[in-house]
Amino acid sequence: MSVASLDVESVRRDFPILSHCMRGQPLVYLDSASSAQKPRAVLDAMDELYTQGYANVHRGLYELAEWATSHYEGVRDKVARFIGAADPREIVFVRNVTEGINLVAHSFVRERLGSGDEILISAMEHHANIVPWQILCEQAGAQLRVAPIDDRGEILVEEFEKLLSPRTRLVALAHVSNVLGTVNPIRELIALAREREIPILIDGAQGVPHLPVDVQELGCDFYGFTGHKLFGPTGVGVIWGRLPLLDAMPPYQSGGDMIESVRFEKTTFAPPPHKFEAGTPNIAGVIGLGAAIDYVNGLGIRNIAAWEHGLLEYATEALESIGKLRIYGKAKNKAAVLSFALDGVHPHDIGTVLDQEGVAIRAGHHCAQPLMERFGVSAMARASLSIYNTRDDVDRLVRALHKTLELFG
Ligand SMILES: *Cc1c(COP(=O)(O)O)cnc(C)c1O
Repeated sequence: MSVASLDVESVRRDFPILSHCMRGQPLVYLDSASSAQKPRAVLDAMDELYTQGYANVHRGLYELAEWATSHYEGVRDKVARFIGAADPREIVFVRNVTEGINLVAHSFVRERLGSGDEILISAMEHHANIVPWQILCEQAGAQLRVAPIDDRGEILVEEFEKLLSPRTRLVALAHVSNVLGTVNPIRELIALAREREIPILIDGAQGVPHLPVDVQELGCDFYGFTGHKLFGPTGVGVIWGRLPLLDAMPPYQSGGDMIESVRFEKTTFAPPPHKFEAGTPNIAGVIGLGAAIDYVNGLGIRNIAAWEHGLLEYATEALESIGKLRIYGKAKNKAAVLSFALDGVHPHDIGTVLDQEGVAIRAGHHCAQPLMERFGVSAMARASLSIYNTRDDVDRLVRALHKTLELFG
């Protein structure tokens, strides 16, 4: 597919923030893996809801409430199509992928986990896909197992397979690493878990913004993502689960909107997804997420992937041309995330100098401290590329890195 299939200048015009300056220079935003910027269409959709069609959902009998409810539920259908879910009832709106993972931990895994059981994750997980499992394991007397990765940042599939045991109650893996950019061979890993009838959750926070996703084709049991990394607003995310599983799971939080009937003697719960959406939801957030998905569909996720891939190759070569720079994460199949170190310069100093040059990158542990330990560092610098980034942005990054080396190297 040709790189020209995405008109980057037109995309850039869709993002109002990109016309702003940082430190007196045109902004170069290279931190989309942390949170992506928002196109005008997302802002307008939320504004339109609040100014023209706002009311609470699932309650009112008047026109505004019906409009809000039908738009809110319409986004559920849209999300289902976007990730290839069999049924919109499998789409649960949550605050972010962190909450989605916690929902699965508490509603699905907790009651199946006993002393001596195991949960398997990988060495490259985000804290969101480590800590909830660690807490459950501690409470149950279970073991958290960790599939190792090689120096390129790829999961060692044979080791992963060896760690699948009759005691494994869940496998939880990132689709794409937020630090190394590795696109994990999840189809293969899911198949290995399913052969053994082990449920598997995929953390798709970095999957959906970069790759086409079809949960039925993948064959996993749960897939979560977060709206704000998909050009949507903060405060909204999705956890998808197979309907029979969601049906059998107890509520995660409880209160209004998730019940069928309430009596002081006994309450019965609504069917999924409403059973898992207690209280007034993030209505505007969901509407914004729907607009973000329309936006992504309009560009075409395959065009996005192709654009980012071209940019990744350009940026990798440009960074490698800088002596004293080391890139972490050299997987064969990689998304547009570049973590790196400069010899003798602390990552926070890199971030600070780049900021002065109007270049926004991330420096720190990237919510993946065990992964930092795996590579023997406490922090890395990370540039993440998105649909609105250009070769110019990469050139500005490289110039700013040379400047950093002049100052610190
Ligand atoms: C960002 C991220 C998360 C957490 O996302 P939240 O929106 O903070 O819940 C989890 N996993 C990965 C791989 C991420 O990149």
